[in-house]
Amino acid sequence: LFIALEGGDGSGKSTQSHLLRDWLTARGREVVLTREPGGTDLGRTLRREVLHGEDLDPRTEALLYAADRAHHVNTLVRPALARGAVVLTDRYIDSSVAYQGAGRGLGRDEIRELSLWATDGLLPALTIVLDLDAATAAARRGGEPDRLEREPSAFHEEVRATFLSLAAADPVRYAVLDASLPADEVHRAVVERVEPLLGA
Ligand code: C5P
Repeated sequence: LFIALEGGDGSGKSTQSHLLRDWLTARGREVVLTREPGGTDLGRTLRREVLHGEDLDPRTEALLYAADRAHHVNTLVRPALARGAVVLTDRYIDSSVAYQGAGRGLGRDEIRELSLWATDGLLPALTIVLDLDAATAAARRGGEPDRLEREPSAFHEEVRATFLSLAAADPVRYAVLDASLPADEVHRAVVERVEPLLGA
């Protein structure tokens, strides 16, 4: 079972992915909790160099995310799925569609195609979108903004709108949850959507 968590920075993906991991583990499932970028050594390097390094042009950035995803899927996600583990990934294809495709203006369809090529078409059974308005997300993050957090709020609104439109197009494979609610309530809503997928 392959599940992705998506949403803007500060939407609670990390908190919710850990709560879901613990819930699944308590039910006796092997869980692999991972993230993009940063799920592999290559991803961790990319995360350090790309996210905290110099500004990159958008196409280079998009290709690096795609390369990270190809490597992540091949070396970690597919092997885990093959042995029956539940894989939870904090960000996946839709983050690229939202940030590089929409936010950076490279085109949603082009970036989706690039990611599908990179992953040989691996899609999650469920994508959980943690939906939060940009102002609340910024307030939650607090502290010094990093490179992307300095983007104008229009960028973050575009990212948010993209997650919502991807979800609206496929209600079976997506759950949009109100991330402004307390973490335990969001977790309950997550479990409600995941439980039916676990099978007997
Ligand atoms: O959520 P996380 O901390 O992993 O994201 C790291 C940064 O990379 C965030 O600022 C996020 O907006 C950005 N990002 C991106 N394109 C992606 C994935 C993440 O710009 N495909």
